[in-house]
Amino acid sequence: MWAWHDAQGLKRLINVSGTMTSLGGSITSKAVQEATAAIMGEFVNMHQLQALASAAIADLTGAEAGCVTASASAGMTLSIAGCMTGIDPGRVEALPLEPGDRNEVVVQLGHMCGYGAPVSQAVQLAGASVRPVGQSTHAMDYQLESALTGNTAAALYVVSHHVVHYGQIPFRRFVEICRSANVPVIVDAASEYDLKGFIAGGADLAIYSGHKFLGGPTAGIIAGRRELVRAAYLQNMGIGRGMKVGKESIAGAIAALRQWQKRDHGAIRAQERAALELWARALSPIDGIQPVIVPDPTGNPLERLQVNVDETAFGASAATLARALGEMDPAIVVRNHEVELGYFQLDPCNLKPGQAEMVADSLARAVLIAAKLEPREGDMHTARNGGVDSYLAWLANAP
Ligand SMILES: *Cc1c(COP(=O)(O)O)cnc(C)c1O
Repeated sequence: MWAWHDAQGLKRLINVSGTMTSLGGSITSKAVQEATAAIMGEFVNMHQLQALASAAIADLTGAEAGCVTASASAGMTLSIAGCMTGIDPGRVEALPLEPGDRNEVVVQLGHMCGYGAPVSQAVQLAGASVRPVGQSTHAMDYQLESALTGNTAAALYVVSHHVVHYGQIPFRRFVEICRSANVPVIVDAASEYDLKGFIAGGADLAIYSGHKFLGGPTAGIIAGRRELVRAAYLQNMGIGRGMKVGKESIAGAIAALRQWQKRDHGAIRAQERAALELWARALSPIDGIQPVIVPDPTGNPLERLQVNVDETAFGASAATLARALGEMDPAIVVRNHEVELGYFQLDPCNLKPGQAEMVADSLARAVLIAAKLEPREGDMHTARNGGVDSYLAWLANAP
């Protein structure tokens, strides 16, 4: 299972945190691996390859057209750029410093989250500026209506567990208001299973990650109206050059899209459910630990095991238990971005055969270790700030 890790001296790990950039995105199926490997030894006309991708994307999303980008984040930047430049190479080349008069992107304030980098920065990279709508937990129709002006290039709607989940304008209403102002709606659906709903619901462009639920190599997917997709694609001769996607990612994304249609989603869910129940059984007898199966917050057909830790009864915090799991061999990497609320989650969507049992075994051992660990003030800090700390630590102590 870890032959490559062992050969290279890398730490063994089991990912129960979800599809994380910091852990290499997805693991891909054989068919996707074969598609990426096959094209590596060949030259190919990239426009033709992207036209093939467009057909595969259109087929699966119901959109008119599509293209593959380096990532969903790149897809957002290129889509926004395309909404500003249209099909005009001169304007493409003038970005980001000369975006023209229509250079504002409207976003509900509660949608201005981070996914490892700020949403706002993906907008600004194109040369656009962000025009926030409403307050964090209050966005009202009149606020969106008055934000849409002659300077508006696009309106961005973000679907994520990271956004504020109440007080936001519902997608349908958002589209209606933008439609009547003639402003294109771009949906960041990077981490969503539903490949059709946003386009069917009136999005002009919808953006997905190739390396999340689709199980492809690192890539982004833009789907939507043909003229806007063409305008986004044209950015490859401008700001898109620094976000270039390789032929292997395009071929892999096409293979992943084609496989998605054939995937036995019901069987996968049953397997994931069995893992959650196994882990819940391993934790249920432990004083102060309450495992609960919870649905995905954005309605993806996926559940996770939420491990609630009562610090007094258990003798250690959720953050300390997460640390104990992370220090095991193989490391069990949990979903801990809400750890200050006293829990972490276990995500079953990236398990290899045999790993569910290994996680159950590690949970049983980690609860014994964690309860005896010196409570460390730093655990909460580390769990909350681990993302940036790990970047800062990289090569910092190299000889
Ligand atoms: C993951 C994610 C992104 C970034 O996707 P990449 O393909 O990794 O760039 C953007 N938006 C949301 C909501 C995400 O979940």
